[in-house]
Amino acid sequence: MSQSTQNHADRVLLTGISGFLGGHVALALLKAGYTVRGSVRKLAKADKVRASLKAAGADISRLEFVELDLLSDAGWDEAMAGVRYLQHTASPFVIDLPEDKNELIRPAVEGTERALKAALRAGVERIVLTSSMAAIAYGHDKARTRPFTAADWTDLEGRGVNAYIESKTLAERRAWEIMRAAGRERDLTTINPSAILGPLLDEDPSTSALMVKRLLDGSVPALPRIPFVIVDVRDIAEAHVKAMTEDSAGGRRFPMGERPMLMGEVADIVRKAAPGRKVPRLNMPDWAVRLYGLFDRDVRGIVNELGVLKALDSSAAIALLGRPLVPASQSVAATTASLIERRLV
Ligand code: NAP
Repeated sequence: MSQSTQNHADRVLLTGISGFLGGHVALALLKAGYTVRGSVRKLAKADKVRASLKAAGADISRLEFVELDLLSDAGWDEAMAGVRYLQHTASPFVIDLPEDKNELIRPAVEGTERALKAALRAGVERIVLTSSMAAIAYGHDKARTRPFTAADWTDLEGRGVNAYIESKTLAERRAWEIMRAAGRERDLTTINPSAILGPLLDEDPSTSALMVKRLLDGSVPALPRIPFVIVDVRDIAEAHVKAMTEDSAGGRRFPMGERPMLMGEVADIVRKAAPGRKVPRLNMPDWAVRLYGLFDRDVRGIVNELGVLKALDSSAAIALLGRPLVPASQSVAATTASLIERRLV
């Protein structure tokens, strides 16, 4: 694949640098020699981010910070000054869904509008947006076995679409609309990861690692047949960096998921990676999960997905990276090791 001319001192605006993925994207960008301008909601968070990136081996002399909120117009034009590329990773990612779905949808969609429009005003060359498998693989026929591809979009009228899935789908749709309207569709790339796991950069377990944490801390007594398609955070970060300069990545979506597995298999990997720790072995039958779902809104949201293994066609991302994806078992084991090393369990 061809690379466009690039100068590694180029400045990248990275929204969501305080997040699990944002930290890894910053690390990959700094290691590749870029100057990173990370956005945080409050500058008070900058020291913590700086310290964790330094501890991970990054040269933080090329790291700077700006204050931006997805829900506020303040600062976006100033933040884009001197920026060649935008990496927009910030978006609310939560396990416990809010009563009001707009608490997720507004920052996701309005934040995408603010980030992309400011980037276009500033003449930013390429925008990489962190979308999600959530924008691809939901609301479809449960019986489908064919892998989901970049041509698929989540059907918001279908079953099992929750507020997070809606927020990511609407945000990505809005991103393509904005770029199309500006005649700049080829300057947007979306990375559409499944559930991201891998090593933690700080002491925040983040929503991503919570599933593994709950398997280790005794809060999950038995294993429902919840499906996960897992992908490694290091692969997702590297794809973000590559997508920024590969000509052929322009105007495309990159689904990324290594392989699907049920929660029981995740628990088996965690158990092996955490000798001496108690990890549940008991399977929870689907009827018990459905019964529980009568009383719990969050559980109700997943009953439609029980046992449904979805595959993602990651071939375009594998070509972009020029190598296979990290096996999901290694990503689960790395999260487990991080949680233990950082004394989070
Ligand atoms: P995370 O650790 O919770 O990070 C989310 C980031 O978004 C944080 O930096 C957070 O800032 C920022 N953010 C949230 N609301 C904001 C607002 N109103 N204004 C400014 N910043 C705001 O989650 P993550 O896993 O790294 O997720 C990063 C991206 O990957 C998201 O777009 C998510 O949808 C996507 N994604 C994640 C997964 C996954 O499994 N983790 C899978 C597919 C896609 P604060 O630190 O200030 O809260």
